[in-house]
Amino acid sequence: MNLSFSLYRLQTIDTQRQKITQRIAQIEAELAADEAIQACLKVKEQAEKNLKQAQSELRDVAQQTAAKRMKLELNQNQLFGGKIRNPKDLQDLQSEADFLGKSIQELEDQQIEAMLELEAAQQALEEAEQTYKDCLSNRATQGSLLLGEKHRLENDLAGLNAQREALIKTLPTDVLAHYESLLKTKAGKAVAAIIEESCEACGMTISPADMQAARSPNILAHCKTCGRILYKA
Ligand SMILES: [Zn+2]
Repeated sequence: MNLSFSLYRLQTIDTQRQKITQRIAQIEAELAADEAIQACLKVKEQAEKNLKQAQSELRDVAQQTAAKRMKLELNQNQLFGGKIRNPKDLQDLQSEADFLGKSIQELEDQQIEAMLELEAAQQALEEAEQTYKDCLSNRATQGSLLLGEKHRLENDLAGLNAQREALIKTLPTDVLAHYESLLKTKAGKAVAAIIEESCEACGMTISPADMQAARSPNILAHCKTCGRILYKA
């Protein structure tokens, strides 16, 4: 068994595992972040608030109108009831009746406006609810695609892990420990192939003696520049 070849295979497996692990983390982050849904939800909640506001405004105007109408009724009863005969009092009652009539007219105008606002608020809420529903169903479609990809990646990763387990059993423990520590210190790449007499990782030219060593089945050669284990096919 050629040591550097085994380590090179191990490196290939580990590089694939790193890529898969990264992608799985990315997918999990995407599944967790639901900014679009939050934004739609905010619009819907605001529309609900606006509707409540419009309802309470309409209620207020209606109550005020009813109160003025009651006052006017009372006024009319007094004015035409025959009990009050004093001209000054009757005149006061008439002025009050005029004033109340005007107020009622104004309030009725306000009531129509409030009704229109309420209608608009109801429509805005219906639209916001629909948008929110669409948002959720889009999210569900995208989410299921991402989940599918994640399952495939997890299967691939399980296969790679099994290959890795089998491979590391063939390696001496000190060699494996050396590889693992390089993997940590060299940004996930412990083994570099020699391609056209250069280290594939750092690009430096490898001396003929190191090339020779890299081919040996029992010795591990290292790149003098980046320190990685060299592998020559
Ligand atoms: Zn190098």
